Amino acid sequence: LSDGLQSAFKSLRGKGKLTEGNMREGLQTVEQAMLEADVNYSVVKDFMEHVTERALGQRVLLSLRPHEELIRIVYDELVSILGPVDTSLHLKKSGCTILMLCGLQGAGKTTTCGKLAQLLLEEKITPTLVAADLQRPAAIEQLHVIGRQLGVPVYSDAGEKDPVKVCQAGVKQAEADGSRVVILDTAGRLAIDKELMAELARIDKRVKPDQVYLVVDGMTGQDAVNSAGAFNKELELDGVVMTKLDGDARGGALLSVKQVTGVPIKFIGTGEHLESLEPFRPEGMASRILQMGDMVAAAREAHRIVDESEREELEEKMASGEMTLDDFKGLMEKVAKPGLMGKMMSLMPGMGQMKDLMQNEDVTGGVKQTIGLINSMTKSERRNPKLIDAPRRARIAAGAGVQAPAVNQLVKQFEQMKPVMQMMAGGNAGDRMQMMRQ
Ligand code: GDP
Ligand code: MG
Repeated sequence: LSDGLQSAFKSLRGKGKLTEGNMREGLQTVEQAMLEADVNYSVVKDFMEHVTERALGQRVLLSLRPHEELIRIVYDELVSILGPVDTSLHLKKSGCTILMLCGLQGAGKTTTCGKLAQLLLEEKITPTLVAADLQRPAAIEQLHVIGRQLGVPVYSDAGEKDPVKVCQAGVKQAEADGSRVVILDTAGRLAIDKELMAELARIDKRVKPDQVYLVVDGMTGQDAVNSAGAFNKELELDGVVMTKLDGDARGGALLSVKQVTGVPIKFIGTGEHLESLEPFRPEGMASRILQMGDMVAAAREAHRIVDESEREELEEKMASGEMTLDDFKGLMEKVAKPGLMGKMMSLMPGMGQMKDLMQNEDVTGGVKQTIGLINSMTKSERRNPKLIDAPRRARIAAGAGVQAPAVNQLVKQFEQMKPVMQMMAGGNAGDRMQMMRQ
């Protein structure tokens, strides 16, 4: 979807003045891109109706930047159909909240159990995980591995054949242990079948989970939509977690699943690691679909790595406007984990160049170069990059063994990173706190 929409807008931008004629053409490309991305036909139809109506309004054509205005309209519409936002786990004020995850085999249920546990741990809540997938022989051990990794208790009973009994015993154990949250990891099948649905419906009825989330594989396109429909018919879903949205962002499946189930999208999985779960933000997803960059997601991710005291220091510096290239260097060293750096780059607008600078995505090498450049600056240059004129630029570049333009790029990058650093320093885990509210 992303590529399709981007080229749609690119071709519009290339047209110079926007007229009603070429706007209609552009809108058709948008429609095509959505259909090709497996977005449900009725979703596309509604979407196009709203967008067209607004786009053909006089305001767009008369506006100074009609292309931007059009993109904004598409963006607004995307945000509106992806919402409303509810990323709360709706934890009960007292007692044990039961979360149940269901979905097809391989969708990412077990991984998501671990990710939710990780999220809860960050809020100082230790959940109990219950291994209720009795279909796959290795499923129980898989959950135990995750439990050990995170240090959270896992309930299982390899001798029991009835998943309802396992869930009941697991909940009982969690309550006895005083856990505030218990997460049920249920079985999936390769495709929807009656037996699976009956099993899940039985758990739903007898164990009465407070929240039932459908875990959907974001890579599966139209299949995801069909299975979401089937699960939604059988179970009273409270939310959807869409996994595997790292790399190729399939906005298409998200739009359709949202429409088919009508329940909020709670989280998105963006990697195999247990930290790779993000509270769903329609704005972030719409930006990603339209490739506007999502600084907030990157900042949130980086936020975890910077510890409290460093954050306070950063915050003070931001407030007093004393952020220097030295601070930037410190942050770079900190966040120079290969995976994260690459991800932040890909999420940030204007960061393409930096990726280039990092030759073949050799992220650590790129960071080394950045650090090398900063090291060859004087103290006053680091404090005030505006001092860096052509002779200084040549000296710095030579000192770091790179070409002079790299110095310019670094300074530009520093400016672009400022708002990100601000968000990192902000101490605002935002969505995470919101998650705990009722
Ligand atoms: P389950 O059968 O539904 O319990 O699925 P699993 O949790 O066992 O996950 C199936 C596979 O998908 C595993 O290899 C996971 O590592 C992988 N996986 C799960 N979530 C994500 C994600 O968000 N991104 C990526 N890239 N892989 C994921
Ligand atoms: Mg599993």
